[in-house]
Amino acid sequence: MIFLWMINRQIFRKKYNSSVKISENGLLIPNRLLREANLFHLMMPKNKWEIIANSLLLQKNEIMRIDILTIFPEMFESAFSHSMIKRAQEKGLAKICLHNIRDYSTDKHKSVDDYAFGGGAGMVMMIQPIESLILKLKAERTYDEIIYMTPDAKVWNQREANKLSLAENIIILCGHYKGVDQRVRDHYITREVSIGDYVLTGGELAAAIVVDSVLRLIPGVLSDETSALTDSHQDGLLSPPVYTRPANHNGWKVPEVLLSGNDKKINEWRENQSFEITRRVRPDLLDE
Ligand code: SAM
Repeated sequence: MIFLWMINRQIFRKKYNSSVKISENGLLIPNRLLREANLFHLMMPKNKWEIIANSLLLQKNEIMRIDILTIFPEMFESAFSHSMIKRAQEKGLAKICLHNIRDYSTDKHKSVDDYAFGGGAGMVMMIQPIESLILKLKAERTYDEIIYMTPDAKVWNQREANKLSLAENIIILCGHYKGVDQRVRDHYITREVSIGDYVLTGGELAAAIVVDSVLRLIPGVLSDETSALTDSHQDGLLSPPVYTRPANHNGWKVPEVLLSGNDKKINEWRENQSFEITRRVRPDLLDE
């Protein structure tokens, strides 16, 4: 399957080196060649199609810029200075800019929050510093999305990560306390993202998760681009088990088929395992 995909990708790259657009259901389609695009879509699973389109578009865009608005920029230092996120930045494939919202407060105490109108527990992040920062950034470049991390939004998933990996410039706003003044959401935010149905103290960890899931999809970030294609959720299934040397550890043996060298049988085994694990652990995925 991967082999077939590689061949398709070569042909596709030669033939359709053009921009792509995203259809409503998240499928990526070259602007010019919808008919052929549909043909290709029939030939391969949707997720693989998306990755190919990702590669094409990013060949054009070259670098993705992510501006993160936070009152705790230090929280990102470790998360962004290791592994694939570090590599994406070092290779010039992505640029992450951290901005301290507090620096934009005009208040003499540099306050960023105030009491909630109507009373009740918890402070609310004020409009002024967030607005000043967003307006400054928007004056410098055009943004594809201005995202607010919040638990009262649609939950993030692989498909959304695939789509966002096509963006060129994005802003991610991290909230704290009871969240940001609703008018920021109404007038500046273009998209809201939750990472799950639970509440964190602030948006920083959630933003780091979104950034990681997106950057690893940019061609050139992973050492083997095709690796992202075989991860869980890329084709609506969970990933099969993986093993490495030694083949026998204290009598715990690697499944024989993986040592056989027979690609057809190995792929069949992996597909069967994927279905079996998905059926057992996440049967809801098979209903989608
Ligand atoms: N009052 C808010 C509510 O009930 O929906 C929760 C505010 S939470 C304590 C503070 C901030 O953490 C939020 O503004 C958001 O930026 C971030 N946050 C918390 N949980 C999150 C989640 N599941 N996904 C994304 N961001 C989250």
